[in-house]
Amino acid sequence: MPTQRSSSNHWDIVIIGAGSAGLPLAIRAAERGQRVLQLEADYRIGGTLHWSSGQISAAGTRLQKSKGIEDSPDEHFRDAQRIAHGTIDPVVLRLFVDHAANTIDWLMDQGFEPAPGTPVAGEAHEAYSTRRYLWGAKAGISILETLRPAHDKWVRAGRIDLRLQHRMRKLIVDRNGAVKGVRAETPNGEFEFFGNNIVLASGGYAANPELWSQLTPKIPLCSYVNPYSRGDGLVAARALGATVDGADKFLCTFAGVLEDANDPRSGAFLALSPGSRKIWEIFVDHNGRRFMQEDHPSIDYRERSLLKQRGTAMNIVLDERILQNAAPITLESAEIYRRRFGRHPAFIKARSIAELAKKLGVPGANLQRTIKEYNQAVDRQQDQRFDRQFLLRRIESAPFYAIKAQGITVLSPCGIKVDRQLRVLGANGRPIRNLYAAGEVLGFTRTSGNAFVGGLSLTPALTFGKLLGERL
Ligand SMILES: Cc1cc2nc3c(=O)[nH]c(=O)nc-3n(C[C@H](O)[C@H](O)[C@H](O)COP(=O)(O)OP(=O)(O)OC[C@H]3O[C@@H](n4cnc5c(N)ncnc54)[C@H](O)[C@@H]3O)c2cc1C
Repeated sequence: MPTQRSSSNHWDIVIIGAGSAGLPLAIRAAERGQRVLQLEADYRIGGTLHWSSGQISAAGTRLQKSKGIEDSPDEHFRDAQRIAHGTIDPVVLRLFVDHAANTIDWLMDQGFEPAPGTPVAGEAHEAYSTRRYLWGAKAGISILETLRPAHDKWVRAGRIDLRLQHRMRKLIVDRNGAVKGVRAETPNGEFEFFGNNIVLASGGYAANPELWSQLTPKIPLCSYVNPYSRGDGLVAARALGATVDGADKFLCTFAGVLEDANDPRSGAFLALSPGSRKIWEIFVDHNGRRFMQEDHPSIDYRERSLLKQRGTAMNIVLDERILQNAAPITLESAEIYRRRFGRHPAFIKARSIAELAKKLGVPGANLQRTIKEYNQAVDRQQDQRFDRQFLLRRIESAPFYAIKAQGITVLSPCGIKVDRQLRVLGANGRPIRNLYAAGEVLGFTRTSGNAFVGGLSLTPALTFGKLLGERL
């Protein structure tokens, strides 16, 4: 293993990760004449852009101006904190809103094409007060395709030394505690690489169940993420005393099931948005009782209602006639959806309500009462308990069914604390020298607080990567 610093093994900037933060970072640094080493654990670049919906947001963009939309970073700041109930790190949010428009203008200069009709005020999350939210036709891939030509160009020119299948495992520090390099696993063994500045752009940790249970112990993991989101950056930074926080602000996405009961990374989404599919079913808790208005229009309300449940779990209850008439809840054909019941551990089928309760492990008398009260609400066309609006059909025709659903996540809540220069902060609040971080490694809750604020994971990743590429 080479341990001596030599000019061939020393770069201006060493970037860990070639995803949403790492790509703009490498491009902007290369444009400024920096020698960049980019280590990427995957066999390809792009990271979570291969999964992401690619929704981004910024205030004061050229696109907004061309459509006559008046907006400002201050307004974006206020609006984001309103949606997140004031829980976003104000230093990080300020840095983000002040530079986000530049990021989107820059993407458009590189050829990014916003989908027709964008920007919008809200899509999938609570609405902003103005239209600042957009995406490309191919979701995250549109952004990757926008960044790839410039990245390729600098790789070909030798300015970016891209090493795929190189997994950073450890940060190397000098006698004074300054970071001077990294150790990485490669197909040819372990090697050390050195640089003036090291940037962790290695994404989240929701594909690492052990680390998830250490950092986020109160929330059972059910994730749909890039399998390389293993939290290596967090582990390496923590070993140097970096502050990692954010678990207390977790919010789940509503809702999913585990495809494989033994694999918490096998989360699959359920279509439970009343805006796109009428909710015919009822949702009951571990006591067999309803706990929310199933068709409440606010996604924030629905997410928070589920978050309060034990293990963020709920049972979606329906009967034979609902199964035959309602659209599937899974994102697949009606035939495949119906066939799941009784065959998949999360899709339960029973001859009676009593049997259903037994299979779900909820008190039978409670479930009987819940369904009886719900049927009375359907008859009256009024739900006095939760004010549910869609009350089309009683639950009464055997067989009865349930889906064991739970909160799902596409994001990692905890992350590394940084200052306004994106320097990684140690436990004493002082920066760890030469070490920077950008992207989801900062923790989703640092950029979006305890809510889903439109675009506030991907846009900060792109923006902070770009900023570091311009400043380091
Ligand atoms: C399904 C889904 C939908 C989403 N939709 C949106 C959305 O619409 N809007 C939004 O704002 N956010 C969204 N997000 C989140 C957003 O896409 C991510 O937060 C963002 O892309 C993360 O960027 P990143 O650069 O920090 O991490 P990544 O893009 O994950 O990049 C990290 C890179 O580092 C590499 N890496 C990891 N460990 C190492 C190591 N040890 N050594 C070397 N390389 C390593 C990884 O392989 C990866 O390529 C979504 C996420 C998912 C999963």
